[in-house]
Amino acid sequence: MHREAILLTPGPLTTTLRTKTAMLRDWGSWDSEFMAVTAGVRKSLLDIVRGHESHVVVPLQGSGTFSVEAAVATVVPRDGHILVLDNGAYCKRAAKLSTMMGRRTTLAPTDEAQAVSPAQLHALLEKDPSITHVVLIHCETGAGVLNPLAQVAQVCEQHSKGLIVDAMSSFAALEIDARSTRFDALIAASGKCLEGVPGMGFVFLRKAILDSCIGNNASLAMDLYDQYVYMEKTGQWRFTPPTHVLVALAEAIAQFEEEGGQAARLKRYQANCQTLIDGMAALGFKPFLEPAIQAPIIVTFHAPGDARYEFKKFYEAAKQHGFILYPGKLTQIETFRVGCIGAIGPVEMQQAVHAVSLTLQEMGIASGKPA
Ligand SMILES: *Cc1c(COP(=O)(O)O)cnc(C)c1O
Repeated sequence: MHREAILLTPGPLTTTLRTKTAMLRDWGSWDSEFMAVTAGVRKSLLDIVRGHESHVVVPLQGSGTFSVEAAVATVVPRDGHILVLDNGAYCKRAAKLSTMMGRRTTLAPTDEAQAVSPAQLHALLEKDPSITHVVLIHCETGAGVLNPLAQVAQVCEQHSKGLIVDAMSSFAALEIDARSTRFDALIAASGKCLEGVPGMGFVFLRKAILDSCIGNNASLAMDLYDQYVYMEKTGQWRFTPPTHVLVALAEAIAQFEEEGGQAARLKRYQANCQTLIDGMAALGFKPFLEPAIQAPIIVTFHAPGDARYEFKKFYEAAKQHGFILYPGKLTQIETFRVGCIGAIGPVEMQQAVHAVSLTLQEMGIASGKPA
């Protein structure tokens, strides 16, 4: 019997039927009902970071990367200097887009099996006063590392530097409190831990820096300041909004609030992550990260050492058993990843482990033990 596979990928991810059903209606972008949905979503997003006093939130059409690029180009002046704390693939992407936006960009490399270091940041800012902004990836989805946001924000504040946070895969699951953690811009998207469908991002901008954003962005479509001003004035989006994505997000946020908000979501993802790691360990699999820096969002596992292992076959066989896995994103060693986020709980994670066990049997692999 056909059943839709469960996505163990960190966006797009598995959504509830309720969220999917919300998309079965067409909306006029100028209509007051749709404008009310936009306003409601913006209010809820600010609630989540307790940012009503200090920040505004600006939604933007497109995947999450569009919003990262828009945030960099809107917030950083053209003669600014960006330092990217780099411990993985999404950090490198942020650095690449910063360079392509014409901003001077410096990478501060850290091993991808480690969290970035606030002490190293402090030293780098002391050494190079020309740095104006720091870019931090909160949860580096490449390996799954949790980076120390609060401490990095503190160092940036001490040095009076701007901070841009890519919180794409952490927002709504890990705690972020704008009252105690100062950031100039923080970016997330519809299709991650809020469990909406992909298609729009949103950026929290610190009110105190809004005026300094005027004229920074050389793009019309990607200018968050312009989008903000227009939205405040008219209640509408500039240019065609992703109507179905937004109403699905509103429905997903309603379920997020019913579940108990960020704390409840974190608890479920932690249970998912622990169930996964324990179950996979029993099959011989070893996680790539130390538990202390493992975010409960996505887990990187070493590939099995068995010569019969091949990711493509492994993926296809697991899919036949109803689960979509994710390739690894590390440069040096062979790994694969399993997401813990989406409208799934520990029962689905147990089933996923069982699917992996059947997959190993079919491939003639005795154990997931790495080489
Ligand atoms: C998902 C994600 C993004 C955005 O990726 P898109 O493919 O553009 O949606 C950016 N940063 C991180 C850390 C992510 O996990």
